[in-house]
Amino acid sequence: MIAQSAMQKFRESLRGQSLCPGEPGYDTARTIPNGMINRRPAIIARCAGAADVISCVRFAREHELLVSIRGGGHSVAGKSVCDDGLMIDLSAMKGIRVDPIRQTVRAETGLKLGEFDRETQAFGLATTLGVVPGTGISGLTLGGGFGNLMAKYGLALDNVIGLDVVTADGRLLTASALENQDLFWGVRGSGGNLGVVTSLEYRLHEVGPVLGGAVLYPVVKTSEVLHFCRDFAETLPDEVVIQGGAFTLPDGAQVFGVAACYCGSPLSEGERILRPLRKFGPPVADMISSMSYVQMQSFFEPFFPPGRHTYVKSNFLQALSDETIETIAEWAGKSPSPYTFAPFFEHWHGAVSRVGITETAFPHRHHSWNLFAWSMWIDPADSEMNIRWTRECWQAIGPFLVGGSYVNYISDEGEAVARSAYGANYDRLLALKNKYDPTNLFRMNHNINPAVAAVV
Ligand SMILES: Cc1cc2nc3c(=O)[nH]c(=O)nc-3n(C[C@H](O)[C@H](O)[C@H](O)COP(=O)(O)OP(=O)(O)OC[C@H]3O[C@@H](n4cnc5c(N)ncnc54)[C@H](O)[C@@H]3O)c2cc1C
Repeated sequence: MIAQSAMQKFRESLRGQSLCPGEPGYDTARTIPNGMINRRPAIIARCAGAADVISCVRFAREHELLVSIRGGGHSVAGKSVCDDGLMIDLSAMKGIRVDPIRQTVRAETGLKLGEFDRETQAFGLATTLGVVPGTGISGLTLGGGFGNLMAKYGLALDNVIGLDVVTADGRLLTASALENQDLFWGVRGSGGNLGVVTSLEYRLHEVGPVLGGAVLYPVVKTSEVLHFCRDFAETLPDEVVIQGGAFTLPDGAQVFGVAACYCGSPLSEGERILRPLRKFGPPVADMISSMSYVQMQSFFEPFFPPGRHTYVKSNFLQALSDETIETIAEWAGKSPSPYTFAPFFEHWHGAVSRVGITETAFPHRHHSWNLFAWSMWIDPADSEMNIRWTRECWQAIGPFLVGGSYVNYISDEGEAVARSAYGANYDRLLALKNKYDPTNLFRMNHNINPAVAAVV
């Protein structure tokens, strides 16, 4: 228990708002998109800037409080909200400044990616971020950042050229290729284990209208579509990213959809490259057209309304072999929930795979296919059924998966799974964790635990 007077003093020291249980706005502030997460922090500090974050870190240390950090709140494991501790809520920190001459942007970490894209696109610029505009730039970037520009420009974190981070001792450090290089290396991939990132500087690229959207096939065609995608993927230039999987349309039709985005120029070249995908089958619906990059980035938004209960399993595939395809096809369209996307692939290629495994803390550079089962449902009474189905699906596909997972797509599966997500970079990250956060103040994440690791 913290003395009332100490709590009061802390609250008054903040420039931003703070919220305690029972106060107006508290329940909204602790609610995140994954409806399964229902945690109650002792206090939520809605930080207005880095100084508030520093105060939070010092207060949490002094009072030995559990800390969680909320960027955009989209962690499927619900790591941004804690029970009984201090939630450092960055969602009000939305400063952003584009430098069109240098083609860079400095962005505060409460921004969502739709907000970020809107600002950079005002200058005809963009960088890789995810494909659902409500997702936070910070959690997404610190864990990796798959998106439509990834094959051309690398992951979101490959485009970070500098960042500010408040470390566990309450110092604000700047990290870049020139300053605090070890921290710069580790923060790009360790998902908040090393401190609270208050701003990120990214490299931007010229991105005009894109050719994008999706084609849909009846789910019974899953095997044929995946065989096609395997060959089609071999032909793709860096300007194209594809992803696809089984899901249910609002009218109840079960489909296997393949989304594509061509970000090159001219768009007629994209028409030529995507033609085989649009002709194959043929699809029951073809929604590929030229559109602004911001429109493309909103394409998936209607499928991810906040509040749905969400449970995710994800790993990279060894290969998209015939046997893998048949197993995926057996599970396509079988989810007990009409809101689920499973199984679903992302094709990783191009710039992301030309960065070395140890160049950043993100190790998964050489697998072409990332697979996930993204189960979503509405009624809490259906949780057990949906979680069981997701696990059974994953068990069946298990023999074809590699051990490592993309850290941003894992539910709360414990330390071994978290460890495998950091792969070959785990030991080096552990040394950094011991240097920058030896007491594990930042542990509401896929945790690199200095205590357990010391024993190992
Ligand atoms: C609907 C949906 C769509 C998605 N689409 C994509 C996609 O297209 N591509 C992709 O790569 N991923 C995608 N993801 C996964 C996404 O990258 C992760 O969920 C990511 O963690 C979300 O970041 P956030 O800031 O919104 O989440 P939060 O829940 O706020 O944070 C996630 C984790 O990062 C930590 N963290 C957040 N901000 C900071 C910070 N500033 N400093 C230190 N630690 C911090 C948190 O403590 C937490 O552990 C999607 C997720 C959802 C739910």
